[in-house]
Amino acid sequence: MARGAQVGVVVGSYNARVGLPAAIEILRAGGSALDAVVAAVKLVEDDLTDHGVGTGGIPNLLGQVELDASIMDGTALAAGAVGAVKHYPHPIEIARKVMEVTPHVMLVGEGAELFARYHGFEPANLLTEEAEREWRRCIHGDGEAPGEGNAWEDQYNLYMRVVKDWTKLLHKEIFGTTNVIARDREGNIACAVSTSGWGFKWPGRLGDSPIIGAGNYADSRFGAAACTGRGEMAIRAASAHSVVMYLRQGMPLEEALRTAMVDLRALVDPFAERDNVMNIVAMDREGNVAAASTSAAARFVFQTTEMDDPEERPRIHVPLREE
Ligand code: ASP
Repeated sequence: MARGAQVGVVVGSYNARVGLPAAIEILRAGGSALDAVVAAVKLVEDDLTDHGVGTGGIPNLLGQVELDASIMDGTALAAGAVGAVKHYPHPIEIARKVMEVTPHVMLVGEGAELFARYHGFEPANLLTEEAEREWRRCIHGDGEAPGEGNAWEDQYNLYMRVVKDWTKLLHKEIFGTTNVIARDREGNIACAVSTSGWGFKWPGRLGDSPIIGAGNYADSRFGAAACTGRGEMAIRAASAHSVVMYLRQGMPLEEALRTAMVDLRALVDPFAERDNVMNIVAMDREGNVAAASTSAAARFVFQTTEMDDPEERPRIHVPLREE
């Protein structure tokens, strides 16, 4: 994409490709970056073939789909987030509502669900047959599924086995948060992130996606960034915020991304032995886009108001360990 292009643009994780055209339509009609990112993310939340976001997401240890989402308005520097929300298929809309009508940034669990109900969001069944099958296969093998009634020690032992297998599961690509950053023609930048989180997670576990500064950060004066991958690392390194901070310090976009990725090398993390653990997409204030990954194979998508379809690009490869 041409440097300094002053057009509407959206960028996101690879699975956001189903949502980008809807976002671009909004930007073409003069709509806001906020409306654009929400429209795009909702379509990914509705994509039943995507097992990392919304309906069809891989459930937690107990077989319940628990969703996290966040949104940031880079012009007001306002943000909203929800965590561990069950029964509501569009957590990104609830996160936006939290941002717009409450004095808070984040609501979680039953409190978030109560808030959603109060605001008229429609509940739905989020557990598809396919996701349930995957849960049974990975968590219980062919054995009997222990239900909520089981001794918590059983649940905990089971969980620690799943945790040990985490990187193997990651390679099966059954995790897959979505994130979308948009810039409208007024230069407002917004960023939205939605996920069902780490598959088979401990109930109540939150990753980076609903944490502003970790998995999502936007500041229209400098740019925005959003992460997918091992959320615990992005929380510990404040990765999304770091990218924006490096942009603020005057680094070009790719250098800002690369520097935030290299920051991860300082984290002592026994669960990050494999390389595909972190991905960041980013946009600078002019609407230039780029993305980085610890995996050499990862891609991202972007589209401008001048393009008919989203385009795929490889990410800058920044291995977790120095080569
Ligand atoms: N970052 C998400 C989390 O840690 C997972 C993912 O990106 O797939 O919950």
